This record gives sequence, C-alpha cells and structure tokens, in this order.
Amino acid sequence: MASKFSDSVQKRYDYIIAGAGASGLSLAWHMLHSPIAEKNILIVDADLTPENDKTWCFWYSGTPPYADLIYKKWTTIEIGLSSERIAQSVDEYHYYGLRSVDFKRTVLEAVGAHRNFDLFQGSIKQLSCSPSEEVAVLDTEEQSFEADYIFQSCLEPPGFKEEAIHYPLKQHFLGWELTVDKPVFDDSTCVLMDFDKTFTEGVSFMYMLPWSSKSGLLEYTVFSGQLLEKKAYENKITRYLDNRFGLSPGDYQISRIERGVIPMQDRPVIPWYTSRVLNLGTQGGLTKPSTGYTFSRIQDQARAIVEGLLSHGAPGTPAVSSFRFKAYDLWLLDILYTQPREALNVFHHLFTNNSMDEIFRFLNEDSSPFEDLKIMASVPYLPFLRAIWRSRKRLMEI
Ligand SMILES: Cc1cc2nc3c(=O)[nH]c(=O)nc-3n(C[C@H](O)[C@H](O)[C@H](O)COP(=O)(O)OP(=O)(O)OC[C@H]3O[C@@H](n4cnc5c(N)ncnc54)[C@H](O)[C@@H]3O)c2cc1C
Repeated sequence: MASKFSDSVQKRYDYIIAGAGASGLSLAWHMLHSPIAEKNILIVDADLTPENDKTWCFWYSGTPPYADLIYKKWTTIEIGLSSERIAQSVDEYHYYGLRSVDFKRTVLEAVGAHRNFDLFQGSIKQLSCSPSEEVAVLDTEEQSFEADYIFQSCLEPPGFKEEAIHYPLKQHFLGWELTVDKPVFDDSTCVLMDFDKTFTEGVSFMYMLPWSSKSGLLEYTVFSGQLLEKKAYENKITRYLDNRFGLSPGDYQISRIERGVIPMQDRPVIPWYTSRVLNLGTQGGLTKPSTGYTFSRIQDQARAIVEGLLSHGAPGTPAVSSFRFKAYDLWLLDILYTQPREALNVFHHLFTNNSMDEIFRFLNEDSSPFEDLKIMASVPYLPFLRAIWRSRKRLMEI
C-alpha cells in the first residue's frame, strides 16, 4: 500500500477524518471523487493496515456503491422458519457483500497516492474544539492536528449516556469462513436468517453467505443483551454444518473467523461530538436499531457531508428517520428484547406473508404508509400492542 505519514508536529488541515473504518473511508472516497479533493485532508487511525475482518453486506436497488469492489452478489434470499425454508428471488433489491480488506486497501491506496491527502497512524486520545469554536483539534499521544472540521468514528460522543438506553440489545455473532472439498452450497442464495429449531438463545439464527459451491461464511447470530462464550457460537455452527450439509469437522477447513457486536438500541442520534467535530458511523448512531445494518446509512451520511461542504462550506447531515419509522424500530426492539419468543412468530408471519423486496423496502424506510400498513397487518398484533404500550414514553423522547 502506498502511504504517506505526516511527520509534522502540528499541522493545520481543512478536514481531518478520525478513524479509517467503514464510515471514515467512505467519506474519504466521496471526498476524493468530488471538488473537496482540492482541500488538505488528513486521515488518522490506530491501524492503517487493511484487514479482512468484516464482511459488509447490504441490499440495494440499482447500481450499488463500490460496484467494482463487490465480492459477491445474491439474487435469491432464503429464510429458514421452524416449519419450512422460503427461498425468494429478489427483483428490486439485490444483496451485496463487500470485504473490508478490498474496500480499505482500495481507498487507502487511492488517497495515499493523492497529493492532498495525508495518512497518520496513531491512537487518538482526544478530540476538542478551540475556545473560539473556530478550530477542531485532534490529539494523539505524540502529536496534535488542527482542522476546520473533524469527522470522527473512534470515540463515544460525550453526550452519550448508557443509562438512557431502554433496550440494550446487541447483535452478536461469530462466523467461520470455510472451504469444503465437495460442492454443498448454493452460491446464488444468501441465507439471511435460518431460525433452526436447535437455536435457543434470545432470537438466534444462522446467517450464511456462500462465496461458491465449496466456500462461504457462516455466522451464528444472536439478538440478546448478553454475549456468549466463543465455544457456544462454534458449537452451533458445527452442529448446523452437520445437520444441514452432512459435514463433519474433517470435511471443512476454517480459513478465517469473523466476530462482532453491533448495538441494536434505542440510542439517540448524536450528530456532533463537539462543535466542528461530527460523529460518523456507529458512533454517530447510524445503525438501524431493529436490524443492526449500518453500511448503507454510512454511504448516505458521506454523501450528505460532501454535499453540505460543497454547497455552503459546512457538513450536511443525512435525513433522520421519520417519526413513523422511529416508532416501528422502537416497537420491534421492544419485541426483540422483551418478547423473543413472540419475535420468532412475528418473523414467521413477516417472511411468509410478504415478498423480500417489500421487506427490504420497508427496512430501507422507502415504503409508503399504505405499504407499512400491509406489513403491519401481516404480523400478529398482540406483541405490537404490548410494545406500543410499554414504549409509549420512550417514543416521545427519541
Ligand atoms: C464484524 C462486523 C460485521 C458487520 N457487518 C455489517 C454488514 O454486513 N452490514 C451492515 O450494514 N453493517 C455491518 N456491521 C455494522 C457496521 O456497518 C460496521 O461496524 C462498520 O464497520 C461501522 O463503521 P464505523 O466507521 O462506524 O466503525 P469502524 O469500521 O469500526 O471504524 C472505526 C475506526 O476507528 C479506528 N479507531 C477506533 N478508536 C480509535 C482511536 N482511539 N484512535 C485511532 N483510531 C481509532 C478503528 O481502528 C477503526 O478503523 C458489521 C459490524 C461488524 C463488527
């Protein structure tokens, strides 16, 4: 990777991107392909080595972002319910997988080769604003940098209070990327959620991304408040491979482990860390509470920031969810957190009575109120009535 490390003790930039993960590098990519590339931009991260540690998936209608970097596209989505497996081809939204290593390597090489971008590897200790509120300041152990604006995805915003969260739900998972000697996977089909009968923790399911008929990534995923021991996730994957594909441990080679925890919470969106320091990505509260999906929203945010900088010199912020979608998220969170058994029943009806395109449109918040009503009418209403009652005060706060 071509990289340039700034060696100045203190240097002034137009913009600093603090954190070179999904959101920081998405913003860098959007800046690079806009007139903003004429500005001086610094990217700081504790580790600038591209790692294959995350597989970002998203559904998209039309040409997806980073089309040349997409590792795999699926046009059929499978859902495993207790009684049946539903496989549906999708027309409007296709499902895409992007490997973090491909994305990070490409963006870091591109910005590393550009005269106006600097890269600095170091741990960020503090982000602040000058007393006049005209300059944003980034401090690492060794150096300080200043800029008109800092865009950060590293530090928890000071205004964030853990105790304010009513539903501290987490999406936690461990996955194996594996290769098999014989062709067992259908690589046209992504298994979005397989609610196997043997999965009992909270709302739990297998998520499977087949790369080919002989390789893929399988993640045992749980929506609950508590993480599991590593062995517990692994046992589920071992058993699933045996039950579903007749594979015993000697039949496959594990090449990589992917592990993660994604907040699925009623956390408030806190756009600003402090004046002139904007929060990005997960720290910016972009994760959709009821699904954990974040990557598409990160793209919307990057686009909005660049548009704002170009049109009036200040970063724009993406449109926030409308009240009705905030309400749906909160009700679904309530059901997932406090009524996990009912949640499985809701999923059963949701996936049986609606097409995947309709569900993706709803989760994308692109559906009309009429389409929402159709979806709501397709699932059991009692869990929602309980959720509406229980979350009524919280709804007014978020
Ligand atoms: C394993 C995994 C898989 C996921 N898959 C999906 C998916 O399929 N679809 C989806 O929509 N969402 C997914 N998500 C959720 C979300 O999209 C990702 O977490 C995404 O990476 C969030 O982007 P981010 O920029 O906010 O954080 P990150 O990508 O984590 O980037 C933060 C960066 O900040 C750096 N950093 C942190 N602290 C410091 C510090 N003090 N000093 C310097 N640098 C620092 C880190 O090194 C990192 O590079 C996934 C999450 C995980 C954990």
